Amino acid sequence: MPDTTSSSERADLRLETRVVAAGRPPHAPGASANAPVEFTSTYAADGPVNYARSGNPTWSAFETALGELEGGQALVHASGMGAIAAALSLLPPGGAVLVTDTTYNGTGDLVRDLEEAGTKVLRRHASDTDGFLESLPEADLVWLESPTNPLMDVIALEPILARARELGVVSVVDNTMSTPLLCRPLELGADVVVHSVTKYLSGHSDVVLGATVVADTVRGRELAGRLHRHRTLKGAIAGPMEVFLALRGLRTLALRFERACASAAELAARLEGHAAVARVRYPGSGAMLSIDVVGDAAAAERVCAATRVWFHSTSLGGVESQLERRRRHPSEAETVPDNLIRLSVGIEHVEDLWADLDRALKTALA
Ligand code: PLP
Repeated sequence: MPDTTSSSERADLRLETRVVAAGRPPHAPGASANAPVEFTSTYAADGPVNYARSGNPTWSAFETALGELEGGQALVHASGMGAIAAALSLLPPGGAVLVTDTTYNGTGDLVRDLEEAGTKVLRRHASDTDGFLESLPEADLVWLESPTNPLMDVIALEPILARARELGVVSVVDNTMSTPLLCRPLELGADVVVHSVTKYLSGHSDVVLGATVVADTVRGRELAGRLHRHRTLKGAIAGPMEVFLALRGLRTLALRFERACASAAELAARLEGHAAVARVRYPGSGAMLSIDVVGDAAAAERVCAATRVWFHSTSLGGVESQLERRRRHPSEAETVPDNLIRLSVGIEHVEDLWADLDRALKTALA
């Protein structure tokens, strides 16, 4: 079984070390370096887990590592959307949800479905902290992102989370884009952290996975029980092979993210002065930015089609740089400009990324 018990022994270590060390078998003569992939649907009776829809040692290894990074208890889900659906299930029947007016479009779609089914939805702009604070007493669950996708707006997490805590409103932060290396929402008072593990945590665009993380407190354990029940009974569970790959990817998160963030900062600065860029949306940290190109949707599409190094695709957080005009998806919010391209900066050489993007951007002006 993976080493799930000794996180306290690593408490003095930095996250860059813990991400490498956590979730491995205990150091013992002959022990393997990695938690094995366990392919089983069931277990001999009278053990800690009966059936593999409710637990798997490969999940536990990943959950230990992510839990240490976020400072809580993690659960792996079949996808980021699986994690989002589980977190939204914490909304009581007839309850109200408070959310930014522009959010990751999968979350936006799910919230709209809830609205159509009778849930009250309160929407505020990401920068409207006072508005969030005013609406919180009317809400049962508040949904935040760090930063918002794809507008890259930074939400003032601390005051909103602190007030939510005082009022007993369940708070959820989608921390996919910051990763725990830049933001640890549980420390700021969040109840639940959500991840699309598909992105930076696994980092190689080869799995679709999600996770929820809750604080290791009485309230957190109660929420963890409900999230676990949701995962087990709705049945959206991860395959052990995918989780093994995600844990392998997670080991290099700090290195990948450091490089990607440094390149994103450099590209954001250079793009500010580019003749084909009307606006740069860079939150000041992280490896994501969006740009509004000069011209219309067709100009933005020409840019996306013209890159050679950047991979024109949906998704983000892979080692390969990716770009996409977000409004090509009919479900993307109308608050997202038609000519906005979202950039996910990977780990390639920054000069190759710049040369490719600069050349492609010139097609917007054509
Ligand atoms: N959260 C964010 C911020 C995302 O960008 C995405 C996917 O793009 C998701 C959640 C959903 O994750 P998944 O695609 O793993 O279901």
